[in-house]
Amino acid sequence: MTIYCTNQQQLAEKIADQNVSLSNWKNWRWQLQHSIQKIETLERLLDIRFAADEREQLKATLEKFPLSITPYYLSLVDRDDYHNDPVFRQACPSPAELEVDRCDMADPLSEDQDSPVAGVTHRYPDRVLFQVSNVCSMYCRHCTRKRKVGDIDSIPGRDAIRAGLDYIRSNPAVRDVLLSGGDPLMLSDAYLDWILGELRQIEHVQIIRIGSRMPVVLPYRITDELVTMLKRHNPVWLNTHFNHPREITASSREALRKLADGGIPLGNQTVLLAGINDCPRIMKSLVHRLVENRVRPYYLYQCDLSEGLSHFRTPVGKGIEIMESLIGHTSGFSVPTYVIDAPGGGGKIPLNPNYLISLSTNKVVLRNYEGVITTYREPDSYEPNFCDRKCDQCNLQLKLESAEEQDAVGIERLLADSYTTISLTPEGNDRMERRDNG
Ligand SMILES: *Cc1c(COP(=O)(O)O)cnc(C)c1O
Repeated sequence: MTIYCTNQQQLAEKIADQNVSLSNWKNWRWQLQHSIQKIETLERLLDIRFAADEREQLKATLEKFPLSITPYYLSLVDRDDYHNDPVFRQACPSPAELEVDRCDMADPLSEDQDSPVAGVTHRYPDRVLFQVSNVCSMYCRHCTRKRKVGDIDSIPGRDAIRAGLDYIRSNPAVRDVLLSGGDPLMLSDAYLDWILGELRQIEHVQIIRIGSRMPVVLPYRITDELVTMLKRHNPVWLNTHFNHPREITASSREALRKLADGGIPLGNQTVLLAGINDCPRIMKSLVHRLVENRVRPYYLYQCDLSEGLSHFRTPVGKGIEIMESLIGHTSGFSVPTYVIDAPGGGGKIPLNPNYLISLSTNKVVLRNYEGVITTYREPDSYEPNFCDRKCDQCNLQLKLESAEEQDAVGIERLLADSYTTISLTPEGNDRMERRDNG
């Protein structure tokens, strides 16, 4: 049996230097074993030649940030225009990665600082990021954890995982666990099954999420066996990472179909990347292809300040322009939330075009996506519920058994009736220090 797509067939045989069957090509372990990691192999397979000095620069780049591409993902590259190809640009190095910008940081999101035990980042009150794999099937050139790309590939052993599980078990506030990495689907089904099973035994863990780029870069990883296993641990959500409509192929559609048919809710996180998808029409086409395949666009990320990514960054205005072209123009559930992941570990901050133009005590002036300016008349007689957080005496019927109690923090606290906090003051404020010393 041979592969139907000539391009893939030729590529497969060039890679393996022998006849390759379709079942080999579609075997995710075969794909991993034949990952492309050298500049020369890249040139040979794509039938391209870099100029000598360019090749030297690329090799220097690889010493800092290594290369790894699955044969499948490489097969999506358009050889005739590879320099502008969105797949090539995401997977193949550029000497620009060695340029360190003034604002670049090794760990812009302070993930290592917010880590109570190795592998766990606990940033938000009710959810944690759990890095269960240090490996990926494809090394994205725009990886936010670029500092770690090229570390000795390893999958944490059971003891390391147990330490993370213990942390989650001893923190009842954690109701949502995000398995990330690396790519968690680099683990064997059996190992992942064990981790999911352990998490499922923790009563306060309500949902588990998996962040994986496999549907994009190695869709054959999504096997029926994997889906059957994931299904046993539901609710498990999966977020993937498509950046360009070109990545939506027959194979990736099939992977998404299996997951969606398995009842796994699917989301997508796109990174806004200069020269790849910084275009409203590309983004609209991408979100349409995603929802067609039952994937809900979740986040559109402003590119992080990680070292070596400066050539991928766009101004924030590009993101706002893209949001402007989506909101109202297309189905609400096709529109992702545009976020900046705050440097220093502040978490994701949503950004939107402004729709509120003005307001008085009983009217709001708004504009819509078409530029129509309209008014909304507010109620004359709204009786607010004074909230003292005594929910058992309130006429709004929150059943306390089903409610999680959390202290109001930040702006939420400033707005709440039941707190006396009237302002938030930054640390090291001179005026406050004079008060304390006075
Ligand atoms: C993104 C992220 C989460 C999840 O955030 P959501 O907005 O709930 O998707 C949790 N922890 C960390 C450290 C994150 O970066």
